[in-house]
Amino acid sequence: MRRRSLLALPGALPALLLPGLARAQEAPLVVASFSILGDLVREVAGGAVRLRTIAGPNVDAHSFQPRPSDAEALRGAALVVRNGLGFDGWMDRMVRAAGYRGPVATATDGITPRMMAGHAHNHSHGGGAERRHSHSVGPRQVPDPHAWQDLRHGIHYVRGIATALAAAVPAQAGAIQDAAGRYAARLEALDGWVRAQIAAVPEARRKVITSHDAFGYFGAAYGINFLAPQGVSTEAEPSAGDVARLIRQIRAESITAVFMENMGNPATLQRLAREAGVAVQGRLYADALSEAGGPAASYEAMFRHNVGLLVPAMRGQAA
Ligand SMILES: [Zn+2]
Repeated sequence: MRRRSLLALPGALPALLLPGLARAQEAPLVVASFSILGDLVREVAGGAVRLRTIAGPNVDAHSFQPRPSDAEALRGAALVVRNGLGFDGWMDRMVRAAGYRGPVATATDGITPRMMAGHAHNHSHGGGAERRHSHSVGPRQVPDPHAWQDLRHGIHYVRGIATALAAAVPAQAGAIQDAAGRYAARLEALDGWVRAQIAAVPEARRKVITSHDAFGYFGAAYGINFLAPQGVSTEAEPSAGDVARLIRQIRAESITAVFMENMGNPATLQRLAREAGVAVQGRLYADALSEAGGPAASYEAMFRHNVGLLVPAMRGQAA
């Protein structure tokens, strides 16, 4: 009798015990909406969490379309990290579709956004509740979501992510806050380096053309005037009039710093550069990191890469 009941058990045991064992042994799952947030979570959490990044390297988060398997990744997550300001509104739809009821950390919470003229047909920046109060007539003002392009805001992101991670993984709270403090100190030093690099460029030369308005915060923080044929979202097509105005400005002001971005369609920018008679100086990393091994595989590497290209291009020394 006893022997028989024991024999009956092995089949039942794994099914009953393994889910519990798996939960005890695996680190909690954290889901980040796009590659830059994923890198910040990795720096702060280290091995304390399993990290899943939805929109990966070189992926345009503006036009990102999550697959059903992405929503599936939210099941069992301990924390979701998103940018907010309408950048990754698809993440909110994924959260609803997956029935996820856990904590959602919004990295831009507490940051006063820059406001930009929006486009009526731009839905990617307008899906969230953030925009419901907009009643303006004419080109409506939308928040610029690219706040990470100012390292001071990046430090704000890191502190918010650390608070959310410490709450989600309380056993590791001390290590998480320590790592966040060390990382924030590195970003502070990098911010100083960026300022020193750009200070070496005469103010009148600090003009840069990029594909879309991803560098508004960078320009405001570090004193560069960025101009782009596309607005704050890569989804809106630039008008012929906007492109013609930019070409006239490039010629009139002898702008030499013209750049593509690592995601999106470079065709408009290449045509603009050709018609203005200037060479495209390379590829800036705006809304996504590069693949591992690429020139901008981390948030810090992205700034070093971008500044390393921008400074000689603004001075008219590159290409
Ligand atoms: Zn963008």
